[in-house]
Amino acid sequence: LPTPPRPKDLPKVELTENARQVLIRRYVRRGDDGKPCESVEDMFWRVAYHVARVEEQWDSDVMSRAREFYILLTSKKFFPNSPTFTGAGTPLGQLAACFVLPINDDMGRDASGIFQTLRDAALIQQTGGGNGFSFSRLRPKGSMVKSSAGQATGPVGFLRVYDHAFGEIAQGGTRRGANMAVLRVDHPDVEEFITCKTDENAITNFNISVGITDDFMRAVENDEEWELRFPDVHSPLYRQVKGTLEQLVEAGVPLVTYKKVRARDLFDKIVRQAHHNGEPGVLFLDAANRSNPVPHLYPLEATNPCGEQWLGPYENCCLGSVNLAQHFAPDGKVDWEALRQSVVTATRFLDDVVEANQYVPAVPQLKEAAHRARRIGLGIMGLADLMYHCGVRYGSPEGQEFAAQVMEFVRYHAMITSVEMAKERGPFPAIKGSIYDSENMRWSPPRPLFPYERDWGRPAVDWDWLVDQIRIHGIRNAAQTTIAPTGTIATVAGCEGYGCEPAFALAYIRHVNDNGKDLQLTYASPQFEQALIKAGIEPEKRQEIIEQVMLEGSCQRVESVPEEIKRVFVVSGDITAEEHVRMQAAMQAFVDNSLSKTINFPEGATVEDVAIAYHLAWKLGCKGITVYVTGSREKVVLETLSTA
Ligand code: UDP
Repeated sequence: LPTPPRPKDLPKVELTENARQVLIRRYVRRGDDGKPCESVEDMFWRVAYHVARVEEQWDSDVMSRAREFYILLTSKKFFPNSPTFTGAGTPLGQLAACFVLPINDDMGRDASGIFQTLRDAALIQQTGGGNGFSFSRLRPKGSMVKSSAGQATGPVGFLRVYDHAFGEIAQGGTRRGANMAVLRVDHPDVEEFITCKTDENAITNFNISVGITDDFMRAVENDEEWELRFPDVHSPLYRQVKGTLEQLVEAGVPLVTYKKVRARDLFDKIVRQAHHNGEPGVLFLDAANRSNPVPHLYPLEATNPCGEQWLGPYENCCLGSVNLAQHFAPDGKVDWEALRQSVVTATRFLDDVVEANQYVPAVPQLKEAAHRARRIGLGIMGLADLMYHCGVRYGSPEGQEFAAQVMEFVRYHAMITSVEMAKERGPFPAIKGSIYDSENMRWSPPRPLFPYERDWGRPAVDWDWLVDQIRIHGIRNAAQTTIAPTGTIATVAGCEGYGCEPAFALAYIRHVNDNGKDLQLTYASPQFEQALIKAGIEPEKRQEIIEQVMLEGSCQRVESVPEEIKRVFVVSGDITAEEHVRMQAAMQAFVDNSLSKTINFPEGATVEDVAIAYHLAWKLGCKGITVYVTGSREKVVLETLSTA
């Protein structure tokens, strides 16, 4: 697809050497000889232009919109997810990172049957998209199969089939679509599912999560029995109705109880396993469904691979992240006005992506679903950088409030922009019957978990006014906000903190493979170094401090670091699990979809510690929880270090 020449007066982009290398390796287009055939700036222009181009249909000035997008991107104030960089303006043209596909309990007849969906997923993977699946619709292992008079494979068996297939499929481009498998906590095979990745070499192409219900959490609290059950596969209705457990029950298919367990035993099993190696994660199905914007279309049953994006069948979402590290104002303040402007342009950009995305033509359901709800997922990266800048400690009550205020501001302006676009372009087609239906508006503005007590100069937000605006004009996007992990884009943007995470380390040694030789590069947080300079610490002493910090990543145990710097410059391992959960919950209150966050535990944390965090996450309204106990999974630790 032709891209007009990049206007000569557009600015260049400033990138660190590491960022430039990652960008060239991952995003720049290559010719048949495998060599890059566009410059870094050309790459940004290609993306800006091909996303802006769709505005032709609304009589926008495409070139000036493309310039606006180019400037937003090259100022590193906002990046879309990686597939938008690699896909825009290319023949494939697939721009989204996340998909969810349904798997019906059917081998061949159904368009969403087990092998149809496997094929659809393979096609999506080739475009760099990650897939999430619920395996909950599959009948339990050993139950009867009428057509073959045999016994069913069960969800875990088919999960292995999928895993094997994905492992063998050649991946398109440089990115490998990741996968998520979800199983409901009341599925008869859930115990087998919980332990299916005990062996670290098993099912390596999937993250797994148990879909937990409020009933289950209450049964755990009250120490009750818990029924593992499944719709009656012998019922004649079962062959006719396809869908989720809720949909089958509603259609009148009876449930059959396969087994009764003690809720606490099952919970313990999940927690123990997660404590052991970080998996399974848990997803809180009811919390997600309480804020499902389109309950008239489907109940939510699964997320994308990293858990931040709940989607209905065949839906996808293009994620994008505003880089808070590029929104500093002098004297430790936030540049709120610049942030507002970035959010406005970014929200338009993402809505344009819904149009520009070619999806996967061989799976027509994808485009249909995308255009029906027009989901977008705007989030943040570099939160930790901004907190260092403002002198706010990540994890503290003050830090929780800061993160909430920032996210509230982002969401508010994303929603205003979405309403503006509804005026210009129309609301999302499925708005009737949704929570934004003007005749039966069920959406109510988000509230902080705890009343605000502090002032960072943030301009006021007026949610009641916004409710009226939505009532009058509708809204363009059924979902607007998501906080992505930003694994690649935060590297390119040069952030210290990925997504909404704290920094991983203030200083470390990075191993780089340099033509087969192991090259050791040292990294020290620029903001930390600046803080040391500002505190008047001499160069020699600074070097000493950084060398000491390199050993642990943290400055907390380095005596010569001033207390005030220690207070602000925390890294992931310095923050308690409870503080991690509270940060997640504080932000979740202002994210309509979900967010990617790891709850870090120090080495030596007990199973009970992990259980407490699960309860707290559930109580505070989180939509899921992912834990990691330091040292529990050798492989991951090494990978994190070498790719950091
Ligand atoms: N993802 C994937 N494969 C990868 C990395 C990411 O499929 O190797 C998907 C996955 O759904 C994840 C989402 O992309 O939740 C966003 O990940 P991230 O923010 O790290 O992507 P980036 O845009 O930074 O590359």
